[in-house]
Amino acid sequence: MDFRQARWDEPIIFELGHTGRKGIIIPEVEDEIKKAVGNIIIPEEVLRKSLPRLPELSEVEVARHFMRLSEMSYGIDSGPVPLGSCTMKYNPKLMLKYTEDSRITLLHPLQDEETVQGILEIMYNLQKWLANIIGMDVCTLHPAAGAQGEFTGIVTIRRYHDLKGQEYKDEIVVPDSAHGTNPASASMGGFKVIEIPTFHDGNVDIEALEAAINKRTAGLMLTNPSTLGLFEENILTMEKLVHKVDGLLYYDGANLNGIMGYARPGDMGFDIAHINIHKTFSSPHGGGGPGAGPVCVKNRIVKNDIRLSDIIPGPLVIKGKNGNYRIYMPKYSPGRLRAFYANIGPLIWGFLYILALGSKGLKEVTETAVLNTNYFMKLLKKLGAKGYSLTHGQGRFRKHETVLSAEPLKKETGVTAEDIAKGLLDRGFYAPTIYFPLIVPEALMIEFTDTETKENLEAYAKALADIEKEARRNPLKVKSRPLNVGVRRIDNVKANHPRTVTPSWRVKVLRDKGVIDSLK
Ligand SMILES: *Cc1c(COP(=O)(O)O)cnc(C)c1O
Repeated sequence: MDFRQARWDEPIIFELGHTGRKGIIIPEVEDEIKKAVGNIIIPEEVLRKSLPRLPELSEVEVARHFMRLSEMSYGIDSGPVPLGSCTMKYNPKLMLKYTEDSRITLLHPLQDEETVQGILEIMYNLQKWLANIIGMDVCTLHPAAGAQGEFTGIVTIRRYHDLKGQEYKDEIVVPDSAHGTNPASASMGGFKVIEIPTFHDGNVDIEALEAAINKRTAGLMLTNPSTLGLFEENILTMEKLVHKVDGLLYYDGANLNGIMGYARPGDMGFDIAHINIHKTFSSPHGGGGPGAGPVCVKNRIVKNDIRLSDIIPGPLVIKGKNGNYRIYMPKYSPGRLRAFYANIGPLIWGFLYILALGSKGLKEVTETAVLNTNYFMKLLKKLGAKGYSLTHGQGRFRKHETVLSAEPLKKETGVTAEDIAKGLLDRGFYAPTIYFPLIVPEALMIEFTDTETKENLEAYAKALADIEKEARRNPLKVKSRPLNVGVRRIDNVKANHPRTVTPSWRVKVLRDKGVIDSLK
């Protein structure tokens, strides 16, 4: 398939349009309302004296502007996005229909609970389903992302030890294959991060773990399957080691798509876990959209009659004796980590996804995701693509994703993981995650998820093999790519320094239009 992406020299929206041009005409606000708003809700002194300098465009200009930008962009609706660790599965449109229903979008977080019983019932059921899926007892839907879920877990671990008089526990153990958010969350929570190496079989180096665990160990954070796409085979041994010193086990649930319906972190001995609704449960993400990172805990006793579920940050939905649902803050909770209850949109999406698939469907999701990864690995082997190697766990089946090292190809041709990523863009694929996990040199981290087609897996494997051939034949050609996309190679240094990328003529236009002054 010959891939070509649109390339528009599209100005920024402030440079388009003409003074006085309008998209929609909003009726004049009646004087009485103006007065009421001015006097009662918005004090006169904070009302703005002049109109904001907004772009002035007709509706058709706005529509065409964003259409052109979208034509230069690439998303899950354009083609495969095998971005490892991110679980970029297709987002079924049916769920969008309901999350955009006005009965949901018009709700306000400050409404009385009696008036939002429907949505609370949905959240209550979602809490129960998620707890069941990962084998935990109580879930809060409060955190806005996986990373915030981790921090929620870390705060819970801190509180657990403080309440037990174990303030001296100040170390969190994290394997070196972990997502960067793990050590970051632990560190934000005031813990020292102890990094453990990965053994060549892809499991955590158990001897190193044994050596690292001591009285000061507050907990362990683990992703299973790991970011290498490999199931941690020593998890039960690890559980014993950590619990022996009264540390807690935190499960990073971002890779749940590799085991859902087949194995549960709760059964592996984890005490706290987060789930990425926007990964495993298909709500859209990327581009900074809202996420949801529910956190679930075991009913583990902290002390006396206090349990883990009594100390977690963030509210839960509970069902009262009268059958009414209400939002409840656990008795010993340190409080909220964000405003209001939770990000309702992605949560409803996840609720509908579980409802639509049922337990059998969720198992099939995992089966297909794992099958896709391993089929792809077989294809690569069949194509004889020797430029890509496996650094850990050779011969083992992968779960939801795989990490290839382009080190052999780089040594031979000078073509790097970044160049390969650009080569994939040129062939109509989104680039994989590159240079992560850090323990794999020239890493290409590939995750097709359950929603990618067999034909696309085959085309992707062939594209990788083609890039390898091109690298041997003409490495400079690979390094000149991408040529077929809307935006070619950017200057990585300048991209980090936005002021140097605005051409001077554009600065002049913006200044003439008064845009620069109004942004100051
Ligand atoms: C995505 C991811 C996270 C962080 O989740 P966000 O929702 O992006 O904050 C943590 N760990 C792993 C392994 C991930 O893939």
